[in-house]
Amino acid sequence: MTTAVAAPFRFFSLQVVRTRRLGPSLVRVTFAGDELREFHSNGCDQSLSLFLPHPGQTEPAVPVELGDGWWQAWRELPDDVRAVMRSYTLRSLRRDPDEVDIDFVLHEPAGHASRWAAQAGPGDRVLLLGPAIADNRAIRFRPPEGTDLTLLWGDESALPAIAAILESLPAGQRVRAWLEVHDAGNIQDLVTEADAQITWLVQDGGSTEGSPMALGAIRDAQLPDAERPYVWIAGESSHIKALRRHFVGERGVDRRSVTFVGYWRQGLTEEQLRAAE
Ligand SMILES: Cc1cc2nc3c(=O)[nH]c(=O)nc-3n(C[C@H](O)[C@H](O)[C@H](O)COP(=O)(O)OP(=O)(O)OC[C@H]3O[C@@H](n4cnc5c(N)ncnc54)[C@H](O)[C@@H]3O)c2cc1C
Repeated sequence: MTTAVAAPFRFFSLQVVRTRRLGPSLVRVTFAGDELREFHSNGCDQSLSLFLPHPGQTEPAVPVELGDGWWQAWRELPDDVRAVMRSYTLRSLRRDPDEVDIDFVLHEPAGHASRWAAQAGPGDRVLLLGPAIADNRAIRFRPPEGTDLTLLWGDESALPAIAAILESLPAGQRVRAWLEVHDAGNIQDLVTEADAQITWLVQDGGSTEGSPMALGAIRDAQLPDAERPYVWIAGESSHIKALRRHFVGERGVDRRSVTFVGYWRQGLTEEQLRAAE
């Protein structure tokens, strides 16, 4: 039995039921657990905090029994005991049976979470800090009323979010999406009823240094006329900053209509990124 943290988020104790390779550097991990009955989300870019065990531990160490006091007590645990916290996106939620999918990038250099995902198998235990209320502040994709063009950019880490966003958009909604992947094998079939034009950009040599390839592709793109464009960009931090500058500075998009989220930063672990922000 886990303790509620603070509505609308709570802990969910989950086990891996299966994994599936989606591409050379993407793996889908499917989780189940009785507590998922209380998990509710409107999807899109729903972000989650995942707590992972260290090698040799059977479950992640988070003192959830302390209720609101869990955070301080978790931080005070020794480094090699304290569960590793990482941010991920809800790729899908299904009912009967209750299951959630999370798609992990298997990156190099590897990190704790990518290593965990590469080796995950049925029965492995994790804790998820996720939503108990469907419309919650960990969904950042919020096109303003009257949006007539949605522009999306993401690298592989944001592919789960963009895939879920596209699935949620209604017929007739105009969308241009650019997705940047390391390997053509990571390209997926994306399902949407929206009027979407999707461009896949495959990085050569695997380098993510410098500007995203998309900056060139987006600069060159002839975008349809729109009075109220909405931009959503997520991925490597310096890339999203460059793209945001482009959309606001060069394309004149109202900065309030740009959602940009640094999902990771070249050379930094997630702890280091959080400390640097
Ligand atoms: C809101 C939000 C949602 C996210 N959703 C997802 C998701 O659905 N799927 C997903 O895979 N990631 C997602 N991420 C990104 C993920 O949290 C980071 O990639 C995280 O750093 C992975 O942890 P790690 O332990 O594997 O690597 P870390 O220990 O954090 O980092 C180790 C090294 O790997 C590098 N690195 C980290 N991520 C990547 C990457 N994607 N590609 C190349 N190098 C990398 C770092 O720069 C560092 O040098 C999301 C992030 C946020 C903030």
